[in-house]
Amino acid sequence: LPHPLKDPALFKTQSYIDGTWVHAPDGSTFAVDNPANGKPIAQVDNMGVADAENAIRAANKAFRPWRARTGKERAEILRRWFDLIIANAEDLAQLMTLEQGKPIAESRGEIVYGASFVEWFAEQAKRVSGDIMASPNKANRMLVMREPIGVCAAITPWNFPNAMITRKVAPALAAGCTVILKPAEQTPLSALALAELAHRAGIPAGVLNIITADSERSIDIGKTLCDSPVVRKLTFTGSTPVGRILMQQSAPTLKKLSLELGGHAPFIVFEDADLDAAVEGAMIAKYRNAGQTCVCTNRIYVHASVYDSFLEKFTAKVTNLKVGDGFTDQVTQGPLIDDAAVAKVREHVKDALGKGAKIATGGKDHAMGGRFFQPTVLSDITEEMLCMREETFGPLAPVVKFTDEAHVIELANNTEYGLASYFYSRDVARIFRVAEALEYGMVGVNTGLISNEVAPFGGVKQSGLGREGSVYGMDDFMEIKYVCLGGM
Ligand code: ADP
Repeated sequence: LPHPLKDPALFKTQSYIDGTWVHAPDGSTFAVDNPANGKPIAQVDNMGVADAENAIRAANKAFRPWRARTGKERAEILRRWFDLIIANAEDLAQLMTLEQGKPIAESRGEIVYGASFVEWFAEQAKRVSGDIMASPNKANRMLVMREPIGVCAAITPWNFPNAMITRKVAPALAAGCTVILKPAEQTPLSALALAELAHRAGIPAGVLNIITADSERSIDIGKTLCDSPVVRKLTFTGSTPVGRILMQQSAPTLKKLSLELGGHAPFIVFEDADLDAAVEGAMIAKYRNAGQTCVCTNRIYVHASVYDSFLEKFTAKVTNLKVGDGFTDQVTQGPLIDDAAVAKVREHVKDALGKGAKIATGGKDHAMGGRFFQPTVLSDITEEMLCMREETFGPLAPVVKFTDEAHVIELANNTEYGLASYFYSRDVARIFRVAEALEYGMVGVNTGLISNEVAPFGGVKQSGLGREGSVYGMDDFMEIKYVCLGGM
């Protein structure tokens, strides 16, 4: 680390089960490296199936007393966790850039964003209510209660090592559920630091358990969590193929599922757009986290009448991005997470060039080598290109010319994905028309940044199930119980 942590006790490498820090019983560990230079930064305990079973037992034992607390009591504990996250924000940000690579300014932003879910759901914990329905007959009174689902499993990705955890754990705990979390093998340190703060906040033993594992053992642990009838719900953020596997594995126990999967976000610039604002929005929607977010735009459609002007302005901005180690001042694009991520961007560029695309800027591995790739813009795009069909998850923006509104909507919807979408227009009728026509869970109009704790985040089609954040976020962790009072 460029600066040692203010609180070195936040650097944890063991797993956190039933309120205690535990080693893998067989002594196995896996390496976590710094994506900026490939150097190992920690050996983390590599837990297995037996540890997952221990965690399930602990979460099950902790469930009854946790749900028996009042919402207000749970709120107070979550609020303490929030306060501790904010008080330790700089250390958490440093750990994140170290293991994930994103620029330190983005890491700092993510800690605040991640903490906002803990604060929000601490507040929401106090606001659970039911209903009294009008009965169709005079003898009955009909009540609806909302109750926690029970033990929940959570599996999270590496692109937001903090926020993807808080966005799941905070609503689960607020609802009265207990959690077993398996963080991504690339970024366990951020997860374990959160566990340490949860412990200090007084989250009781067994209520939050974090088990770390390498990619191989993660698969076995995932299977164990899915197979268990004790685990009532699985919440997952990651790729669509893994989401499908988890859904399949959850069928025998008919688990409730929340799945936040891949996206293929279109970004449409209409002829009546504020062009400079659209360029700014596209920069944020594409190059944040080096293009490694599920809401990153994957394809930019620009009306023919403003295409040249947009391409010129956008390319100039992209060329000005500063690539480097996330700890270096002024860096706006860090390394990609691993070699496979770089290989995918390379493949998408090569495929596009082979099918007639032209490079507006970038297009190659960065001179720094390693996992750094040049921020890239391609023009002369056709729909057959890989980058127009698959999520690139990297710093590549294909810019496509269009002329007709109905046609561009059809192109935008022509994908199995339905997570985020964006468009720029100043015509009110068009704004409603297009927002309604886009088959996406989220639509950004005249903005490239849509996520916050108040918004219901989630996708339609094969981008997933359920919503996170917002007043709806706790519903995913609650069941509805109907009580019928007869003979009244
Ligand atoms: P990405 O492509 O972003 O790495 P993945 O979907 O592969 O996304 O991984 C997201 C999370 O899912 C990680 O925590 C990873 O360990 C976990 N994971 C990957 N494959 C499986 C699997 N078969 N079963 C359970 N968890 C898995």
